[in-house]
Amino acid sequence: AKGGGRNGLAFFTEDMREKSFERRRLLNDLYDALQEGQFELHFQPALELQSGVIHKAEALVRWRHPAFGMISPDRFIPLAEESGLIFDLGRWILQEAARVSVRWNAQGTSPFRKQISVNLSPVQFLNGHYDAIVMDQLSLQGCQPGLIAIEITEGLLLDDSEAVRSQLNNLRAAGIQVALDDFGTGYSAMSYLKKFSMDYLKIDRSFVQDMVDADSNKAIVEAIIVMAHRLGMKVIAEGVETMVQAQLLRDAGCEYVQGYLYSRPLPEDDFLNFAASAHSP
Ligand code: C2E
Ligand code: CA
Ligand code: CA
Ligand code: CA
Repeated sequence: AKGGGRNGLAFFTEDMREKSFERRRLLNDLYDALQEGQFELHFQPALELQSGVIHKAEALVRWRHPAFGMISPDRFIPLAEESGLIFDLGRWILQEAARVSVRWNAQGTSPFRKQISVNLSPVQFLNGHYDAIVMDQLSLQGCQPGLIAIEITEGLLLDDSEAVRSQLNNLRAAGIQVALDDFGTGYSAMSYLKKFSMDYLKIDRSFVQDMVDADSNKAIVEAIIVMAHRLGMKVIAEGVETMVQAQLLRDAGCEYVQGYLYSRPLPEDDFLNFAASAHSP
């Protein structure tokens, strides 16, 4: 793999070799990371657009790698899914979110509704009784179901959608709210809405961020909001970075917003400081 190669193939394979080397290294390290306590949750507020009150906090996992520093979940969640580690990691994430939520609610002082929203990997539903596992873990932490919400992506639309539907319905019946994440990015968004009932629809940030430049994107966002409301869902817009975007969303009747305009995902202490300085209900 030296030099350019006849047709660029050498360069290509070199690049792939490095990638797969990095993958193997991360995968290998991933196995120990949980034992070593290298994961942490950061929290990003979702605010009620009208009042500015914090509606809930989304838990976003971070990996503090001893050699590479902070690694983004976009890099290690797929590895965890492929390797099956997502089951142990997912359990830790849910337990940690439940622990934090119980702690926040025990303090009783913070001026926000202390619900934490947890991202679930579609893979976690594959064993068929993930609803029971979730409920067990919450009761183990003494966490009321209403304190936790879950976010799932369209990728969850699996072959066995009937099994997924019953698990989701059981979770909702138990008082856990469900949000459909990244709406608009998958290829089956509409059939998804037809099959599953959910509490929130999260508009993917790619639509939100292009709203200002392209009328077509604005039209899509407006239509998504109308449709969500007709289906009895509340709307959370993701990736709000400017006041102009926020204003357009307000005009379109969007209930909740999340994005760097308000706050980045923060470690727990910083999040609590942010919450304390934000508006009270
Ligand atoms: P997501 O669930 O769509 O999370 C939102 C992502 O957008 C987060 O990236 C957040 O930091 C980022 N973000 C928030 N506001 C803005 C903004 O205004 N502008 C821009 N450009 N970005 C914004 P993060 O934390 O890197 O997470 C990436 C993805 O990794 C998440 O996308 C989610 O799919 C996955 N993920 C994160 N935590 C977990 C977890 O605990 N479990 C699972 N299964 N997946 C997770
Ligand atoms: Ca999410
Ligand atoms: Ca999202
Ligand atoms: Ca995403």
